[in-house]
Amino acid sequence: MAETALCANDGDHILCAGDGMPVVEGAPDLYGQWISYSPEVLCAVDLDMRLCNDVANSLLWAAKEWGSVGPIEYYVMGIDESAADSLIDVYCSRRWDRNSWSKDECLAESTRANDHSMKSYQSLSAAWLAEGNPSTTMGHNGGRQFNIHQFTSSVPWGFDASYDVGFIEGVQEQKTVFHEYFHALQHNYIVTKDWDERDSKMWLRWFAEGSAEYMASVLARRLTDAGLLDSRLSEIAGKSSYDFTTLMRQKLVDTKAAYSQCGGSLKDSGYGDKCDSYEGAYSGGTWAHAYLANKHGSDILLDVFYPNLDAMGSETAFTHAYGQTVEEFYTEFDEFLDLTTEEQMAILP
Ligand SMILES: [Zn+2]
Repeated sequence: MAETALCANDGDHILCAGDGMPVVEGAPDLYGQWISYSPEVLCAVDLDMRLCNDVANSLLWAAKEWGSVGPIEYYVMGIDESAADSLIDVYCSRRWDRNSWSKDECLAESTRANDHSMKSYQSLSAAWLAEGNPSTTMGHNGGRQFNIHQFTSSVPWGFDASYDVGFIEGVQEQKTVFHEYFHALQHNYIVTKDWDERDSKMWLRWFAEGSAEYMASVLARRLTDAGLLDSRLSEIAGKSSYDFTTLMRQKLVDTKAAYSQCGGSLKDSGYGDKCDSYEGAYSGGTWAHAYLANKHGSDILLDVFYPNLDAMGSETAFTHAYGQTVEEFYTEFDEFLDLTTEEQMAILP
């Protein structure tokens, strides 16, 4: 794995990939494999190339840490509408060339005025900038049918402090890209193209999101301790250092407050459940994984759970990895949440 990416502006998009690494051509099915191809980050041309470079570098470090999966196409939308349209055209040309998906259909789908179309990430970014609101949204948007891992991101403000949305830490953006990469890893362990089976194996929201967030946070901390996180940000990023302990303490406080308010716990944090919230699912899930890693060893998730997931299914893979059913775990975790904050903080690596 290269540790740094090189970027080029091709006129209608910026493309960044690992220095000296090959990128995938065509549409080979590489799900379920470790690969030596670089992730590709494709950015709208109104974004600074250094922002695009920081996204790509973060993906490379995550791939180096956890293993390289792909092909990854990570699209970053900017503020400008015509730049977004150009980037979407690049995406749809690829889908026609590589996957024979009708370009007209692709363009229609990708520019729909509602939720989660590629275009919506640009319109949200523009609206947030106008309000001075530092929100971001990004996600693994599938891609199994095209043999890719497709991500789309709104502007990660922390990689370019010149946007007038208030101060956002570049280190938080790096951690978020690690989190997104972890989703590619999770998806890579599920080979089927059947949507329902994929969904059932991605399993519980707290498990999938909490593992991504916990593993990303631990990686951000490790790189910080080695002097290799904030020091690698470009000169235009929002500068600060990553404080794992303070951030984990805040997630713990948020989790306990959320559960006392919703009158439930981790098991109630699915979509539409009574503790359906960021704090309930993401922060609670992060602490659930901190607890599991402390009790069973930090390698169990990647060495036992995920490698057995596809063959065993989620519940059985959990019991196999952690020696208890998820219901038994819920009971134990609820007892853990009744301890004092200092006792809880003491389990962190
Ligand atoms: Zn996520």
